[in-house]
Amino acid sequence: MQSTLLTETRGISNGKIPVQVPFFRPHVGDEEINEVVSTLRSGWLTTGPKVNAFEREFASAVNARHAVALNSCTAALHLAVEAIGLREGEAVLIPTMTFAATAEIILYKKAVPVLVDCDPVTGNMDLADAERKIEALKRRCLPYLRGRDLNVVGMIPVHVGGHMMNLDELKAFARANNLWIIEDGAHAFPAAWRANSADRWHFCGDDTALVTCFSFYANKTITTGEGGMAVTSSKAIADKIRLMSLHGLSHDAWGRFSGTGNWDYQIVQPGYKYNLTDIAAAIGCHQLTRAEEMRKQREAVAEFYLSSLNDVSEIALPVNDDDRINSWHLFPIRLKLHSLEINRNEFIEKLKNSGVGCSVHWRPLHMHPLYQERLGWNENHFPTASQLWKEIISLPIFSSMTFEEMVHVVETVKQICAAYQKNTVSRAA
Ligand SMILES: *Cc1c(COP(=O)(O)O)cnc(C)c1O
Repeated sequence: MQSTLLTETRGISNGKIPVQVPFFRPHVGDEEINEVVSTLRSGWLTTGPKVNAFEREFASAVNARHAVALNSCTAALHLAVEAIGLREGEAVLIPTMTFAATAEIILYKKAVPVLVDCDPVTGNMDLADAERKIEALKRRCLPYLRGRDLNVVGMIPVHVGGHMMNLDELKAFARANNLWIIEDGAHAFPAAWRANSADRWHFCGDDTALVTCFSFYANKTITTGEGGMAVTSSKAIADKIRLMSLHGLSHDAWGRFSGTGNWDYQIVQPGYKYNLTDIAAAIGCHQLTRAEEMRKQREAVAEFYLSSLNDVSEIALPVNDDDRINSWHLFPIRLKLHSLEINRNEFIEKLKNSGVGCSVHWRPLHMHPLYQERLGWNENHFPTASQLWKEIISLPIFSSMTFEEMVHVVETVKQICAAYQKNTVSRAA
C-alpha cells in the first residue's frame, strides 16, 4: 500500500525501501521498565514514596521550591487557577495558539478566556495584541461581552514548542496590568531564557510564574504515560493544590496508611481525583535523570534540520537563539504558500505518503466551534494565528531518532518542495 502511494507522489519515489518515521517515539529504557516492575512488586501502587521522590527531584531540576505531582498538566492548570482563587466572571488572557487545556480550565471556573493573537515567528503570545485585547475589553467591544464589564485578572502564556517567551517583557506586561501569571509549561521542560549572555539562565519553573505547570503526556519531552506537575514558590499555593488533588482530604493516602501516618482524615473542600500514581512516578524519576541528555539529542536533530533545510526557499524554519535553551519539543516549519503549488494539508499528505509522520500545533482555539459559537470569536480577531494555521507543520523530533530517519525527513521535505515549487526554472525546463 505504502509503495503504491509512493509512486503516485510526483517525483518522490527513489525506488528504495521506504523508511517510516513516526511523529514521535517515546524514549523508555530498561531502567524505567525495571523500576515499574519493582514498584508493582513493592505493594505500593498509588501516590506514595515514588511520587514523593519524583516531586523532590523535579523541583530540584527546575530550581523550584515546591512541586506537586498530578495525573496531567490539565489537572495542574485546573488546580493552579483553583488555588489562586479565580472567580466566576473574571477574565484571563490566553494565547489562541494553544491546546484545548489552557482554555478549558478557565471555563471550568465559569471565568472567561480572552484569546490573544500570536507572534508570527515563534507562535508565542503576542503581548502587543494582549494590550489591544485589554483595551477592547475596556471599550466593551469584544464579541461576547454583551455590555458586561470584565475584570482581567491573569494570564496563562505557553512557551510553544519549548521556545521560551521573553520573561522580562512578560513580567513587565503582567505587572503593568496587575495580572498574575500561571505558565502552561507543557512544552518547556527543560527550557530556559536569559536576558543576555551576562544574565543567569532562568529555567521554566524557576520562579518564572506564580505556578508553572508541566505535562508528562506520552509524547511530551519526558513522559510518565499520563502525568503532570505544578511547581510554585508559594507554600500556601502548593498546599492548596495538594489538598485539592485528592478529594480535599487533609492527608494523602501515603500519609494515612504508611507507618508514620494517621488513619484519620478530614474533608475540608470538595476536591478532585488528580493524584499521580507511584507506577507513573517510577517512570518519571528515570525520565528525569535523562531529561537533559534527551534534550541534547533533540537539539542535535533540530540542528541537523536547520542546517540541511536552510537553503530550501519554500519553507521558513523555527528560530534558534543564544539566549534560550530550547526544549525542542516541536520543530515547526512554515510553508511559504505563494511559492508552492500545494497547500499545507496536501503537503502533509505527501509527507505521509513518503512515510513521514507529522502534526500541526495547532488549529487555533478561535477556529473551534466552542470558541466561535459560545464566545463569538472569529478569524478577523486573530489575523496572525489565522494565517499561521494555514502554513505550519510540525516535523518529527524525538531523542531516539536515528540518522537515517533524520535524513529521510530532510530528503522528503526537499523533494516535495522541489516537485511542487511554483514558477521556477527547474520546473519549466
Ligand atoms: C499537552 C499539553 C497540555 C495538556 O497536557 P496533559 O498532560 O495531556 O493534560 C496543555 N497545554 C499544552 C500547551 C500542551 O501541549
